[in-house]
Parts: sequence; C-alpha cells; structure tokens
Amino acid sequence: MKKEFKAESKRLMELMINSIYTNKEIFLREIISNASDAIDKLHYKSLTDKKIKVAKKDFAITILLDKEKRLLTIKDNGIGMNKEELENNLGTIAKSGSYDFKNNNKKKNNIDIIGQFGVGFYSAFMVASKVTVISKAYQNDEAYNWTSSGIEGYSITKDNKDNYGTDVILTIKEGEEYDRYLDAYEIQNIIKKYSDYITYPIKMKLNDEEDFKTINSLVPIWKRNKKDIKEEEYNTFYSDKFFDYEKPLKYLHIAAEGKVEYNALLYIPSHAPYDFYSKEYEKGLQLYSNGVLIMEKCSDLIPDYFSFVKGVVDSSDLSLNISREMLQQDRLLKTIANNIEQKIKSALEEMKEKDIENYLKFYENFGLSLKVGIYNDFGMNKDKLQDLLMFYSSKEEKLISLKDYVEKNKDEKEIYYACGASYEQINMLPKVEALKDKDKEILYCIDPVDEFVFKTLQNYQDKEFKNVADDASILETEEEKEKVKKLNEDNKEMLDALKDNLKISKVEFTSSLKNHPVCLTSAGNISIEMEKTMSKMPLNQNISAEKIMQINENHPITKKLIDLYQNDKEQFQKYGEILYAQARLIEGLELDNPTKITDLICDYLAK
Ligand code: ADP
Repeated sequence: MKKEFKAESKRLMELMINSIYTNKEIFLREIISNASDAIDKLHYKSLTDKKIKVAKKDFAITILLDKEKRLLTIKDNGIGMNKEELENNLGTIAKSGSYDFKNNNKKKNNIDIIGQFGVGFYSAFMVASKVTVISKAYQNDEAYNWTSSGIEGYSITKDNKDNYGTDVILTIKEGEEYDRYLDAYEIQNIIKKYSDYITYPIKMKLNDEEDFKTINSLVPIWKRNKKDIKEEEYNTFYSDKFFDYEKPLKYLHIAAEGKVEYNALLYIPSHAPYDFYSKEYEKGLQLYSNGVLIMEKCSDLIPDYFSFVKGVVDSSDLSLNISREMLQQDRLLKTIANNIEQKIKSALEEMKEKDIENYLKFYENFGLSLKVGIYNDFGMNKDKLQDLLMFYSSKEEKLISLKDYVEKNKDEKEIYYACGASYEQINMLPKVEALKDKDKEILYCIDPVDEFVFKTLQNYQDKEFKNVADDASILETEEEKEKVKKLNEDNKEMLDALKDNLKISKVEFTSSLKNHPVCLTSAGNISIEMEKTMSKMPLNQNISAEKIMQINENHPITKKLIDLYQNDKEQFQKYGEILYAQARLIEGLELDNPTKITDLICDYLAK
C-alpha cells in the first residue's frame, strides 16, 4: 500500500529530485552520519544496560557496490528501526530539518537551501531514483522494508533481514553524472573527504579480488592527546589537509573543556597562498560535529584579519543539520570563534616575544592583513591588533613594535613617522634628516596602508602619531619660529603670487630644512602619501592633498627669489615652477608637464 509523504517532506523531496545542486556527493556524508548515530545509540545502550551484549569491535558501517544493478548500499549494525520508527522517521522530515527549511525557503532559492543545510536522509534522492531502507530494530524479530521512488509516496512492507541494523540501498540514477557513485575509488574519496573521522570503521572492497578494508582513520588527530603527537605528525596532517608543500610556521592544538567544549587544530602557514591578497581567497576553518564534517570553510569561526589561519574545529555540541544562517547566530559557535581569536592573538604575541625570527617571517607574509584589520570596520578592532604591528625604526634600523618605540621615547609627546617608497628614500627626505640630527626616532612607512593605520589609531598610549612632513614646527625653536613668522609676513605678497601661479594651497618659508631648498607638505586630512595610495585605487576619485610648498629660509634661493620678485617677475615665476617640480619629485609625485620643466632647467644650464 502506498502512503503519502507529509506536505513538507514532499516539498523537500521535490527539491532533491530535481536538484541541480552541484555538490550532490554530500548525500553519502548524511547517510553515513545517520548510520554512525544509530551505532552510537546501540553503543550507549550497551554501556548503560548490562543485559545488552554487543562488542564495540563489531560495530561497522559497510559499503557495497553493484555496478550492474546500479546499487549503492550503506549497511550499519546500529540500533535499527521498527515499523513505526520507519514510518515516523522517514515519512516526515526530522524536526530540526523542517524548521530550517520553512524559515529559509522564503528568502533563498532552491540551490542555496540544499547548499546550506544538511538535509539528511532525503538528500539521497539527489542521486538515487529509488531508495530502499531495510531495517531491523535491535532485539526485534521482524524486519521492515521502506521503499520510495519519489514524491508519489512510499510503502512499508515486511521483509527479511538476518542481523539488527539498517541497510540503505540506493538505486543510482541513470546518466554519466551519476556513474561516479558506483565507482569504488570515487566512493572512497568522498568518504575520506567528509567522513574520515567517523569513529566506527567504514569498510568497503576496492575491487572484487580484495577483502573488505577500513577506509577511514577513525580517530582524528585533533581528538588525540597532545602528548602522544609528534611535531612531524602535526605537520604531515597540515600538508595533506591544506595542500601546502611548506611546513607551517606554528600550530595550535586546543582541547577546550568547561563551558564550551571543542577541539581545534589551527595552523599559521609559513607563507601567504598565491591568492591570499585577492578577492578569490576564501577564509574559514573546517567545521566538524563530533568527527563529521559539516562545513569545509566556516568563515564565521575566524575574523578577517586572521584569515590566514587554517585548521579544523570540532564540537560535539553542534548539530549536524545546522544551516549557515543559523550558524551565524549560534551562540556556541560565537563563543568558540571568540575563544579561537584569543588563542591566535596570544600565540602571535608569544611568538613576537620569544621567537622574533619567526614572527618577522610571519609579519612579512601577513602583516598587511593585520594592518587592514586595524582600519577596517571603522577601527573597531584596533586595540586588539595594535601590539602585533611592527615598523622600521630610523634608530634601530630594523622593525620594532609601537610598545618598543614608546618605551624608548618616554619624554616625547608624539610618535614620528615618515612615508616613502623605500627606507633609503625616506632616509634622505629633508625633514627626516633634520629630525634625525635632533636625535629623534622615526618610524619609516613604505607600505601604502601604513598612514591609514596611523590615522585610524590616532594615538598609542596617549602619544599622537605625527607625520614629519605635516608640521615643520616640531623642528623649530621659539626664536626660529618668530624669525620665520616675520619673514613670511614681510613677503606675503610674493608668496601669494607664487602660490597662485602654482595653483596650490600655500607657499611659505621654513627653517626646518637643513641644507635642502624645498619640500612639499600638506594641510587637512589627506596627506600626500594618502593621495598617492588613493590615486592607485580602482575607484579613483581624484582625491588630492592640499599642498604646501616650503622654502628653506636659510638657503641662498630665498634671497634670490626675493630679489627676482622685485626686479624680474617673469624669471621669478619660472624659478617658482622649477622649485615646485623639485618638491614634487622629492615626494615621489609625478610632474604635470615634465617637458616644460626640463626645458626650463636647460635654459638655465646653458646660461
Ligand atoms: P536527522 O539525521 O537530522 O534526524 P534524517 O532525515 O537524516 O534526519 O533522518 C531521520 C531519522 O531517521 C533519524 O533521526 C533517525 O532517527 C532515523 N534514521 C535514519 N537513518 C537511520 C539508520 N541508519 N539507523 C537508524 N535510524 C536511522
């Protein structure tokens, strides 16, 4: 007699049968996981009831293949189902599953639904035209057969079965796409991929001549005792699992107990994957629920700035059938994620303190990820990350932390930094030279994002970040300041004439340039370095810094300019243009009209 499925089961089943979802292979994970649960139940019973005598060593999941009849069978010797259980469990969707389905059906298209949920038993219909379940409940005499070929319904009849447990027999759909589910090697690979760490042996024959062999590893490395695992094993697992030829820089094996219980094995790679700084890179940790893989890359487990971390997380408290949306809201997962973030942060801090050589290697590869983490999300995470940063120090001539800088410069009110294309170039910037002469320590920034980092941080331990290019006054004594102020006032008309001709914000004299004639600095929030960086961005909006040209009042050019302004206005403006071109070149900015400038210079050379 044919029975109808409940309405909801029908809808889900329809989805499965007509699925164009590409990841159909997950059906095997679902069925094996059910088998494992059923064995768990009997195992538990045997542990709590002395009358029940089943040996743990006999528990197994067996896979059988019949290519000719297109049959794939998954057998277990677990608790089994009686007639009512077959009816109730397979006639309707399990409660958790139907909840997910109802709640997400509105928003999502069908493919998403399948992709995002463990849809349980029904996923078999993605690959099978007919599904037969023959089951005999433990300590029952009768076995029953549940068969369905799709939405029309299912039938339950009496059947014969020697042993307790369940056989799920799939008649694999016709078509090349499905042939792989009848290939022993393909099936073995799918099992290794999703169900490797099921704690009962999964047995199958790879060919007819061979005997059955166990193809899963049974106990995952992350569940084993740290003391028993050699470093080499950790490294081999890493390279097998994450396809990295180089051994990791560091591994973290976590066995958390108490409020949240989970195991995790995390790795910091020793080099950035080739696509790490591209949009293609997908962060995430493998998520297991008690040895069963539920997600290949769970991105919610790891913040963006630690996206380089690879690894696995396993918690027996997580439901296998949890959806991606539900995961995002899952409190347990959030707690695990926070916990993991803490551990990674501590591990990096410890590496920085105790193993600076490796930390520098790490920083070279992934420092940019931390820096971006500082200014992303409106600087929300800056406090967490700032102590992991390193910058090149003019005094130490190597990378140091902000903490080191502050400790060494207790009397300074500010943290000085300078930006440029290379350390050598920054070293020769006029203001850097001048500051170094005054024994100041300067952090050199050659990464285009560095200045954004400092603008986001604003200060560190109450010391403000100061771009040495921004403010000349740090270099001048009171007396000098007065003198320059007067010079600027006396020559206001001349300076304005220069400014108007060059179309910049301001031209002024300064006493902070040592022997160099000119430099360029900026007013406002956008520095010259930031202008350079933003001009390279895809959505370049032509944002430019308000430029100020500073002329060294001690340099002979000052006198010359004042003189020319009085006697030869035309020459005066030409001088101005050459000076401005020089200032731009020193800052690494392009010239608007290089031909005009080189012609001008040559005119003077020829004189
Ligand atoms: P879920 O596993 O999320 O409960 P499924 O649709 O995969 O949802 O399975 C429905 C129910 O059918 C299971 O909860 C279980 O009670 C029963 N079941 C499925 N497979 C087996 C099996 N191999 N042995 C015993 N019971 C099973």
